[in-house]
Amino acid sequence: MTDCIFCEIIKGATPTDKIYDGDNFLVIEDIAPVAPIHLLIIPKRHIESLLQLQESDIVLAGQMMKYTATLADKYNLSNKGYKVVINTGKDGGQIVPHLHYHFLGGKKISDK
Ligand code: 5GP
Ligand code: ZN
Repeated sequence: MTDCIFCEIIKGATPTDKIYDGDNFLVIEDIAPVAPIHLLIIPKRHIESLLQLQESDIVLAGQMMKYTATLADKYNLSNKGYKVVINTGKDGGQIVPHLHYHFLGGKKISDK
């Protein structure tokens, strides 16, 4: 997958600061933040969306979800809270076809 912007970032072809760089997923700041804290949690393996998630990806998906609590701690959001959004497909508003969790915080985010 060479035409995937997130795979390019993961390969290092597009230099991007990493908030976290683990074995199986990484965290970066969104280039166009819609909240004071807007991070993207991205698996290193190209998974197009939740629709392509395999049984064998469930541990990874859970680890990415669990990592949101670590991010909340890092950004002092544990008391205030935060929102995790996973856009899926056209109607879900997914633009980048590589699974990612949006981590949004630092203000009240009311959209469901
Ligand atoms: P989606 O709508 O697919 O759920 O969200 C994709 C997100 O990726 C958008 O919020 C967009 O701002 C972000 N994004 C797109 N290209 C880049 C990029 O090259 N670098 C970073 N850091 N974020 C990006
Ligand atoms: Zn990709």
